[in-house]
Amino acid sequence: MPPDSAAAAPLSARPLRRITVLSGGVGGARFLQGLLHGLANGSVPGGTPETEVTVIANTADDWWIHGLKVCPDLDTVMYTLGDGIDHDRGWGRRDETWSAKTELEAYGVEPTWFGLGDRDIATHLVRTQMLEAGYPLSAVTEALCRRWQPGVRLLPMSDDRVETHIAVADPESPSGRRVVHFQEYWVRMHAAVPAEAVLVVGQEEATPAPGVLEAIAEADLVLLPPSNPVVSVGTILGVPGVRDAVRATAAPVVGLSPIVGGDHVRGMAAQVLASIGVEVSASAVGAHFGARSAGGVLDGWLVDERDADQVAPLERAGLRARAVPLMMTDLDATAAMAAAAVALAGSVTA
Ligand code: GDP
Ligand code: CA
Repeated sequence: MPPDSAAAAPLSARPLRRITVLSGGVGGARFLQGLLHGLANGSVPGGTPETEVTVIANTADDWWIHGLKVCPDLDTVMYTLGDGIDHDRGWGRRDETWSAKTELEAYGVEPTWFGLGDRDIATHLVRTQMLEAGYPLSAVTEALCRRWQPGVRLLPMSDDRVETHIAVADPESPSGRRVVHFQEYWVRMHAAVPAEAVLVVGQEEATPAPGVLEAIAEADLVLLPPSNPVVSVGTILGVPGVRDAVRATAAPVVGLSPIVGGDHVRGMAAQVLASIGVEVSASAVGAHFGARSAGGVLDGWLVDERDADQVAPLERAGLRARAVPLMMTDLDATAAMAAAAVALAGSVTA
């Protein structure tokens, strides 16, 4: 074999040593579960159980409540991959009880609409104490993961405080609108009123957490899972330096659409896409991220079979696109999505 034959082989035939995934909460965590399943059973081309997966998680949903620092997306990934998640809710701890919440309500302490379960509170107590002792969020996350052993290296996008706020119409306010924390929009308001704007407070001053830029630069493959394109992946890419690192990495960058058949599968992607003027379709989200060859962050974009008619326009926009089943109904279906993403990456580099 000539010495350079490995370099010329398509990615799918090469061993995948390192995969880096830019993840939100529930959508990202479910995808990661399928990816790890596929790496473990050999169904992801080039992947092995030794393939290292680094997750760069969104922290712009984080907030302080009842004196506790809560990081919903980090915890959803950690609990899901560490087998502590409540499967029905998709977030929080399994076998949860709610005594602390009930007691706080009895004291009349606001807000009462955000549920912190008793088991979950232990995580936030550990995190808050470590933060107050001076540890950065990345070190705290590493410490929490020592218990959960998620099977990935889990990094917050930044150690700095970054918070998504949503502007909504409010006829009683002199400006005609009011700005609420992302959690209030999602948990209290159920994203039932239109989002007029998405404001990511602190983003411009933030720096990537230790290891984030290296994980992107040194990866063999960068994946954008089916996470919210605005308030999960969008906020990660918005940390100064991250978008440039994704644009510059030698690894192929492939994403999976969270929009299927013209709507999100769950959550509120439709509301926030509308607020930034992006049509709620798989192809519009692919075009919003854009082809790296045209100033964007993607080489390839997977859409669901139902959106197969959008493959041709995506390819005209410079992206490798393919239509495959994109519903994460079980581990095997999700592993097949990960395998399709790796195969698409192989076609980019072939
Ligand atoms: P969050 O932080 O908990 O909102 O989770 P993410 O940002 O990681 O993911 C939310 C996105 O996942 C939503 O936009 C959903 O449309 C998407 N999603 C959830 N389940 C599925 C699925 O089975 N297939 C696809 N393609 N997308 C999904
Ligand atoms: Ca989230």
